[in-house]
Amino acid sequence: MVLERPEHSVSRRFISDAALKVLYRLDKAGYEAYLVGGAVRDLLLGGRPKDFDIVTDARPEQMRKLFRNSRIIGRRFRLVHVLFGNEIVEVATFRRDPDPRRQRGRGSNELLVTSDNTYGTPREDAFRRDFTVNALFYRIHDFSVVDYVGGLDDLDQRMIRVIGEPAVRYQEDPVRMLRACEFAGRLGFDIERETLDAIREQRREIHKAAPARLVEELLQLLGCGRAEPAFEWASDSGLLESLIPEARDILEGRGRGAGFARLFGVLDRWVQEGAELSEGFLVAALLAPSVINRRLRLERRRELSRPEVQEIASDAVAALMSRFQLSNVRRDRAYEILETLQRLIEPIPDKERAAWAICWRPSFREALDLFELLRESSDGGGAEILEAWREIADQAPPRQRAKSGGKKSGGRRRPRRKRR
Ligand code: ATP
Ligand code: MG
Repeated sequence: MVLERPEHSVSRRFISDAALKVLYRLDKAGYEAYLVGGAVRDLLLGGRPKDFDIVTDARPEQMRKLFRNSRIIGRRFRLVHVLFGNEIVEVATFRRDPDPRRQRGRGSNELLVTSDNTYGTPREDAFRRDFTVNALFYRIHDFSVVDYVGGLDDLDQRMIRVIGEPAVRYQEDPVRMLRACEFAGRLGFDIERETLDAIREQRREIHKAAPARLVEELLQLLGCGRAEPAFEWASDSGLLESLIPEARDILEGRGRGAGFARLFGVLDRWVQEGAELSEGFLVAALLAPSVINRRLRLERRRELSRPEVQEIASDAVAALMSRFQLSNVRRDRAYEILETLQRLIEPIPDKERAAWAICWRPSFREALDLFELLRESSDGGGAEILEAWREIADQAPPRQRAKSGGKKSGGRRRPRRKRR
């Protein structure tokens, strides 16, 4: 189905200049050029896309000749990045699903696809995509929207529907199950019946997904500003059970200690208000309720030593690491935030210098934010302690002989690097 220019709401006004330049130049050189994926979906929904992906029939080498400011990236499937100042436009050649038999033969995701037969037609490119609403094309040549998969209907009905046979598509790539929940939550859509039923049936397959990809999806989920509904979908479909029990426990507000059932809701509000949260912080937020509850449980029996307290945080991070592959930076950051958080709930040291030393920790600001997040998520008190720490931090002199130029780091109002 094709919607001509007057029949749809995609306006070039909301497409970035850089993406438009790429589209026009490809078109002028005689290639097919389309905007695809999330950008078309979000434009049709009246939103502002995060980024603009382009597909074309031009091959990477041909694109390199067309755009001086470009480079070819990727080994498995080569893409072209066209650079405009600090904006990168990703351009891919139409491709189709690699033959699944060959994929299995190799026994890994490392299928090396170099030959021309991986390139496809626009239609094949649409059918290899995950959900119908993610497979709409905006054709720059005549400004039409092209729908090969029924995505326009599903957008109208606000429905996430897998392209093709759900069970097969999940077996090919189990991460799609998590993505279904993420998009349904983010867009406020329903998940189509078979798409959802198949997640319930295939949910254990999720452990076959590459941990490095899973962690990217987890971070997307946590930071998308609609984590609560997304995690609820993942919980309903059974995905959380074995993959992210930490999130399930939060939603159910359980653990014998304090409940933090509103944690995702508060996190979403912060993100919607524009808070810039680091990935380490997001991971720490996911783990914090179980860390706090475990500590409270253990402390009911006896006082804990410092190494024991540290172990609670490192155990929580390690448990997550057994399912997700966190980079060292994210892992260390999450650990440090959780460790400092625990200092903050202990009695404030009498000696000024000892209290300042806690404020000087690089993870202090984020630990304080996490304290606030937990406070807002539960009905627990702690307002005075939080205030007291803020005052101490305000009064603390700059750290003497600080490494790396005494740069303060963390804190939720600080901009973070763009997530890749
Ligand atoms: P976002 O707004 O989060 O960027 P998006 O739809 O653009 O949403 P991306 O993860 O950027 O999502 O992926 C771009 C497009 O690539 C998707 O819209 C989809 O068409 C396709 N895609 C991404 N991941 C998969 C996958 N696992 N299987 C099939 N197609 C996928
Ligand atoms: Mg995208």
